[in-house]
Amino acid sequence: MTAIILLGPPGAGKGTQASRIAERLGVPAISTGEIFRTNMAEGTEIGKQAKAFMDRGEFVPDSVTNAMVKARLAAPDAAGGFLLDGYPRTVAQAHVLRDMTMDLGAAIDLVLEIQVDEDEVVARMLKRAEELHRADDTEPVMRHRLEVYHRQTEPVATYYADQDLLHVVDGTGTVDEVTDRIFAILDRLA
Ligand code: ADP
Repeated sequence: MTAIILLGPPGAGKGTQASRIAERLGVPAISTGEIFRTNMAEGTEIGKQAKAFMDRGEFVPDSVTNAMVKARLAAPDAAGGFLLDGYPRTVAQAHVLRDMTMDLGAAIDLVLEIQVDEDEVVARMLKRAEELHRADDTEPVMRHRLEVYHRQTEPVATYYADQDLLHVVDGTGTVDEVTDRIFAILDRLA
C-alpha cells in the first residue's frame, strides 16, 4: 500500500502531475475537485451540495467531502494504494484522513508540496480559464481560492512536515521538469 498526498495552490499543476505519479506507481489518482465536478455535471446530490461552495471558491463542507473520500478510498482499485489530490485541504481533514487510513490498516507514506509563486499561479489559472471555462476560474474567485489556500491548506503542509513526511517540489519550469523532480524524490524513497 502506497498512500501519497499532493499539496499545492490552485494552478500549481497538481492534476497533471497527479496522473503521472499515479501511473508510475500503479495507484489511482483521486482528485476531490474532479469528483465534485463530475457529480455536478451528472446532477447528483453531492453535486448539488457542492456547487454553490465551489462557484464561490469556498470549501465544500466536511460532512460532504469526508464521506465522499471515505467511500472512494474503500473502492477496490484503492486497495493497493492511492494518490490524493485536493485532500486534505485543512488540518481537520488531515485528522479525519489519518483515522480513515488507520481503519484501512495503512498510513500516509509521503506528502509532496508543489510550490509556485502567486503571480505565476494566477497567470496559469487565467490561461486555464480561457481553455476550460471552469465556473470557479474567474479572477476574483481565483484570488479568493488562493487566500483560502494560504489560510487553510498551508498549515496542512506544516502538519505533515512535523511528521517528517513533507517533500517540497519546485513547481516552476516545464511540466516534464516538475515530473522529473517528483520522480527523483520517489526514486530516493523507493
Ligand atoms: P484547485 O486546485 O484549482 O483549487 P480543485 O479541483 O482541487 O481545484 O478544487 C476545486 C474546488 O472543489 C475547491 O475550490 C473546493 O470548492 C472544492 N474542493 C475540492 N477539494 C476539497 C476539499 N478537500 N474540501 C473542501 N472542498 C474541496
